[in-house]
Amino acid sequence: MNKRELARQQTLIDAFGLTPDDSTPTVHGVVEGYSVIATSGGDSMGTYDENYWSLIFSVKKRGTNEALDKEDFKPLRKESKAIPAIVAQGNRLVVSVNGAIKKDAQQDNLVAAMTDTVRYLQANGYENSCENGHTGTSVSNTVIAGVYRNYCDDCYAQVAGDIHEAHQSEVARKDNVFTAVIGAIIGSLIGGAAIILFYKLGFVAAISGFIMAIATIKGYTLMGGKIDIKAIVIIAVVMILMTYLANRITWAWDIADYFKVPFMEAFKYVHDAVEPSAYAKDIGLLYLFVGLGAVPTLISALKATPAVEVTYKMD
Ligand SMILES: [Zn+2]
Repeated sequence: MNKRELARQQTLIDAFGLTPDDSTPTVHGVVEGYSVIATSGGDSMGTYDENYWSLIFSVKKRGTNEALDKEDFKPLRKESKAIPAIVAQGNRLVVSVNGAIKKDAQQDNLVAAMTDTVRYLQANGYENSCENGHTGTSVSNTVIAGVYRNYCDDCYAQVAGDIHEAHQSEVARKDNVFTAVIGAIIGSLIGGAAIILFYKLGFVAAISGFIMAIATIKGYTLMGGKIDIKAIVIIAVVMILMTYLANRITWAWDIADYFKVPFMEAFKYVHDAVEPSAYAKDIGLLYLFVGLGAVPTLISALKATPAVEVTYKMD
């Protein structure tokens, strides 16, 4: 968060007595009896954006047990210049705050959006509740799998327990290193075969380098491996060894043809028979293309792997 963001947070802290959270770009607390989380960007950690804000409430119309009706909040959106959009789902109410180019304008918008919303809730008979509509119990500002939510203790305990369980089984299910290594080796054999075949067919090293990278990574993940740092080391070692081996076979093949010696003999003496600079250039190019295929694939796989789900109650 930059200075401007901190200034906006401070505005909400000064105006409404909210508390900053250490681990997220949010301030939270209770305003006129309503639990609220205010954050830069959308309503989850993944949708952080410094150009607009969201205020996350959870309320229930007094005397009903029904979910919120978004039509009921149209007047608020029309009346308040600071509010461009409102999303109502269950008992969860997310109020967007207009972003503004001028820094002070956004601070004013934040105060206006909060004030307008709270007044509207009071005037129209909404009481504070948890996101599942529970009232008469303490409601906490929480982060559930990276999403900002207001939950009562029972709902929080239930949801946090479910997430923990799901995460445990996800971890157990997804990372089977032993089969993954076998998968990587099978994949790299396909890559090695491609290197040899395409060399014979006279293709450029680019294609076979890419195949080596993709096949090894796919082999690892399809056989139960999860892409993390350990996986990247394993995959790199397998790719480097198999690329070396396949490349050496292509050299040995040529040497055997040229000198009319048995293949195994040629394989053994590749490094004696080939000019070091020619050899280095040949395998260097191959490694370059393996790398070009592997790096973006691994980076996107790393990003796709969900980090440990962020779930906690804000203090
Ligand atoms: Zn609840």
